[in-house]
This record gives sequence, structure tokens and C-alpha cells, in this order.
Amino acid sequence: MKALVKKEAKTGLWLEDVKEPKPLDHEVLIKVKNASICGTDVHIYQWDDWAKKTVPVPLTIGHEFMGEVVEVGAYVNRIKVGDRVSVEGHIACNSCRNCLRGKKHLCVSTIGVGVHRNGGFADFVAVPEDNIFILDDSVDDELGSILDPLGNAVHTALSFDLVGEDVWIVGAGPIGMMACAIASRVGARNVIISDLNEYRLDLALQLGATQAINAKSQKIKDAMKKGKIQIGFDVVLEMSGSKAALRSIFKNTMLGGKVALLGIPKEEIAIDWNDIIFRGIEIKGIYGREMFETWYKMLSLIQSGLDVKKVITHRFHKDEYEKAFEVMISGRCGKIVLNWD
Ligand code: NAD
Ligand code: ZN
Repeated sequence: MKALVKKEAKTGLWLEDVKEPKPLDHEVLIKVKNASICGTDVHIYQWDDWAKKTVPVPLTIGHEFMGEVVEVGAYVNRIKVGDRVSVEGHIACNSCRNCLRGKKHLCVSTIGVGVHRNGGFADFVAVPEDNIFILDDSVDDELGSILDPLGNAVHTALSFDLVGEDVWIVGAGPIGMMACAIASRVGARNVIISDLNEYRLDLALQLGATQAINAKSQKIKDAMKKGKIQIGFDVVLEMSGSKAALRSIFKNTMLGGKVALLGIPKEEIAIDWNDIIFRGIEIKGIYGREMFETWYKMLSLIQSGLDVKKVITHRFHKDEYEKAFEVMISGRCGKIVLNWD
């Protein structure tokens, strides 16, 4: 079968012929239909420091995908051949304290599909039954391939009550853009997004932001004034990982406000903790998606009208993966879907 492989410990990815996986007793085999490129895949493509210390070589990459189940292992009973499915890419150990108390997203020994073990940028991929999410008709084949990042957005955005609140979303990457749609859908008053990329700011407005500001040339205080926000934001969703952004957040959060941190900084960042202490700010770190509460919420939101399809801006055939990664790296895009047929 064909798979997109990190074949060598250097920059690049290779579309190779590899052996088809055989599902273990507790696994299912999926014929992949659509896959979507994540920032993580770009790190692996570029072979940065994080990738070097995390990813074993050779490895088939890809953790955002959907497809059809074509084979099930002997102990599988919930999933059937023919099911249309998407996959939770974090495989939990099911035996640590957090797994046993129902917090599998905080498993102490999570394994990442397409990061630590072979992933879904392939004709076929084997995944534990526990990680399968069955798709219904409300989720089309393209949307089905971006549920992992949509889940990040849902997990972060629903961490705090947004009804009638003033929300600042920092970073208009695909996840920030989708968070705009969610915040707007659940009834936030202001949904103000900031980024440095005009292409993405425009798209964020189409997804439901009430204002989109360029952090390089516009002031957040001006956006607040326009949105009738007097003191600070009730809720901030950090989705950029930027040092400058992280430092400015706490100075613009309401006393008693809440901050959810999803963005992954590249370095240690010094923060003036006085801003947090004296304002009584609540901070929550976000990792992955809650298994499977986030997935149920996500499906319910879609079924009740949440529309994030505009975040998909490009479609390529798997053979054009080099072009797809080029566009992804340029930043002039939302989500990019690879058609794996
Ligand atoms: P992305 O890299 O596509 O988007 C980040 C955006 O932040 C970019 O558009 C960039 O221009 C913008 N940005 C940079 N500096 C900024 C600044 N000073 N102010 C405002 N915006 C700025 O990433 P994504 O795929 O949308 O993911 C968002 C973040 O979440 C990334 O940091 C990613 O690594 C992280 N992430 C975390 C988890 C988790 O489980 N915690 C999961 C997935 C992604
Ligand atoms: Zn565990």
C-alpha cells in the first residue's frame, strides 16, 4: 500500500510502498478516505528539534483522517466492517490512575497515532477499537477528517462558560478560526480574534469573529473599546503559542477572568505573575480532546448547526502532498485536506 513516510532522519516526507498493517485482536483496520494536515505533521516534515526527539524513523505519519472500517480484530465488538469512522489520535494506556478515573486525555503514557506509531496518511491504518468514533450523516467525509483539531477547539472553547461573555481568541490558525465559530454559536457577545496573518484574519471573520485584529498594526485596547469592553476580556483562548501574545493576555483579562491555554510555546516564557494573582485569573491548560466527552459535544454542536466547513481552504490528492505542505508552510490557508482515494 501507499503511505507518507518519514523515511530518514532529515527534512522531507516520502510517499512509499509499505506493508499493509494487520489489526491486532483489539484493533480495527481502516481504509483511509480523507486526511488532513496538522502543524505537527509540518514539524515532522521539517524535522525540527521536537520531531527529532519524539518521532521514531521510519514512521507513517498522519493523525487527522477518516475512512471506512474494512476488518476488525477478534476481540472487537462495538465497531463493524463498513462503519464510517474518525479516530481519536491519542491512545491511552487504560491502566494509569487518570485513565481509571475517566480522564483518559490526561493519561500518563499517551501514544500518538502518526507520531509514536504508524498513522493515517496511508491507504490503510490499524487503530485500537477504543479510539474509534463512528460518524453519522451529519458529518461529511471532509469534515470527518478534521474532527481532531475541531475537538481541540471545542475542548478549549467549552472549558469556560461563554454565554454573553467577551472572548478574545489569540491566534487565527485553523483551531482559532474554528473556536470563533464555536464561541459565536454558544452565545458569546464579543468574539475578537488576533493574528499577524491577514489571510487568516479574513477567514476568521467568515467563521464568526465579531472583530479580527492584526496584532502587529492594531491595538487590542481599540478593539475592546469598539466592542464596549470596559476593563478586560471575560475569557481568553490562547491558540498561538506566541510569547508576545501570552505576555499581553493577562494585562487585558477582566478581574476574575479565565484563560484557557492550548497554544504550544516554542520556548520558556517569563510572565508577570502579579497580573494573574491580583486579578484573580483562572488558568487552564488544554491537551487534546476529552475522551469522549469532547467528541459527543462536537457531534451535538454540528447536529445543532455549528458550521466550520469554511476552515477547509485547500484540497489535494495524496500524490500532490509536496504542494500541500508548501501551502501549509506558507500560512495562506486554513485546513488542507488530502484526498486519499
Ligand atoms: P497554527 O500554527 O496554524 O496557528 C497559530 C497562529 O498563531 C498562526 O496563524 C500565527 O500567525 C498566529 N500568531 C503568531 N504570533 C501571534 C501573535 N503574537 N498574536 C496572535 N497570533 C499570533 O496552529 P493551529 O493548528 O491552529 O494550533 C494552534 C496552537 O495550538 C498551536 O500552537 C499548536 O501547536 C497548538 N496545539 C495544541 C494542542 C494541545 O493539545 N494543546 C493540540 C493541537 C494544537
Ligand atoms: Zn493511562
